[in-house]
Amino acid sequence: MTSTSAVSTLDQVMERWEPVIGLEVHGQLLTRSKMFCGCSADYIGSPPNSNTCPVCLGLPGVLPVMNRVAVEYTVRSALALNCEIPEHSKFDRKNYFYPDMPKDFQISQYDLPINSGGYLDLPDGSRVSIERAHLEEDTGKSTHLGGTGRIHGADRSLVDYNRSGVPLVEIVSGPDIRSSAQARAYVAELRGILIATGASDGRMEEGSVRIDANVSVRKPDAVFGTRCEIKNLNSLRSLQRAIDYEALRQIDVIEDGGSIRQETRHWDEILGVTSTMRTKEEAEDYRYFREPDLVDLDPDQAWQDRIRESLPAMPAERRQKLTARVLDPTPAQLDGVEVVIDLGLEAFVNAAIDAGADPALAIARAANELAAGIDDLHNLTLESFSATVRMEQSGELSSTQAKTVLGELLASGGDPKAIATAKGYEQLSSDSLGTTVATLIEENPDEWARYREGDEKLAQFFIGQVMKVTKGRANGKAVIAELQARR
Ligand SMILES: [Zn+2]
Repeated sequence: MTSTSAVSTLDQVMERWEPVIGLEVHGQLLTRSKMFCGCSADYIGSPPNSNTCPVCLGLPGVLPVMNRVAVEYTVRSALALNCEIPEHSKFDRKNYFYPDMPKDFQISQYDLPINSGGYLDLPDGSRVSIERAHLEEDTGKSTHLGGTGRIHGADRSLVDYNRSGVPLVEIVSGPDIRSSAQARAYVAELRGILIATGASDGRMEEGSVRIDANVSVRKPDAVFGTRCEIKNLNSLRSLQRAIDYEALRQIDVIEDGGSIRQETRHWDEILGVTSTMRTKEEAEDYRYFREPDLVDLDPDQAWQDRIRESLPAMPAERRQKLTARVLDPTPAQLDGVEVVIDLGLEAFVNAAIDAGADPALAIARAANELAAGIDDLHNLTLESFSATVRMEQSGELSSTQAKTVLGELLASGGDPKAIATAKGYEQLSSDSLGTTVATLIEENPDEWARYREGDEKLAQFFIGQVMKVTKGRANGKAVIAELQARR
């Protein structure tokens, strides 16, 4: 099945079928140390098995000690998701045998999680319920060599325990999501909240956010069908593709007279298919029982209030504020706002607008040029960004030149005016633009008369002439301003 045919078929079958999707999102918490020991939680970039100790290696006789910051981050993200914090919660052992779990159990929360019953509102106005947001430890990482990279058919397997015991918040949505696009929007918004609260860095490509998707299909308004769980999706694109593939697969099975078996499935990014990993474990297979080595959590109200008060503005509110600064935003500008908020670039945009820049232009430069150079943002100051946008707006720089200057600022910092001079960008000051416009008006009296009588189309004629004379360095809006000033 190719992805193109999958999409067109999907539209057709979705008139008869409705996917029902619930997501489990695991966010790695930004603590310095692991959840129950003092080992560094930075598992990327350290040599394998270097950040380990008897606790996170699960050696006999050790005792876990709770990381207070991990508890706080979990509560922070849950409060931002409108969750309740029960008076009492506890930790449980989830038992299973796998080489990446040296204790043969994972410390998690089963029947009494630290947060429950919240919701998340998406930009399109839909609401997804949050069943719970609990705290648990991550497993180690296994690498299977030979064969396909999966455990079956591998020659041998390597295990790195640096990730073992790293704290995770697991956020479980209700089965409220009805399309892969909505699933994507939900994860994007949730990721933004995890970043805003400071609980996670949200880097999906590095595995800081991983998603398990529960997918079933039903005829509209019928009871829920049997669901399959797709494990470990680590990009928004994979999430969307995997859900679309899985929904179609289930519809095919049912329409051919078969039935869906509840199971856990693996997503193959290259082949674009899901395949059986194991038949789904039920909760009883894990033999959950209370973790006897940890005290229960009874978070007091004053502590919760302190956390609630310290929460910064969430993406939805920030998006609304920035959108309000643009007059009649176009769909493209709204997309730009979304990118700006997503990447946390609004300080740059607000500084430029405050300094007199056109909001739409400031958003466009941030959503494109700054987004492209996001890793080099430390070289750019609010002032240098504002100045560059304003130089473009006044016509001192053409848009191509402004982009080049921004690229240079991101690469090595500096002063935008000095960069423009060094690049030989001849300044087109508003004085010289005014002179150019005045000359062109004199040379084209008929067109000018028609423009003055209200024929707005002639503005384009004058912009074209100015561009010709200035070799494309003028700014269209600045030209119109000069024309209007003389009308
Ligand atoms: Zn350790």
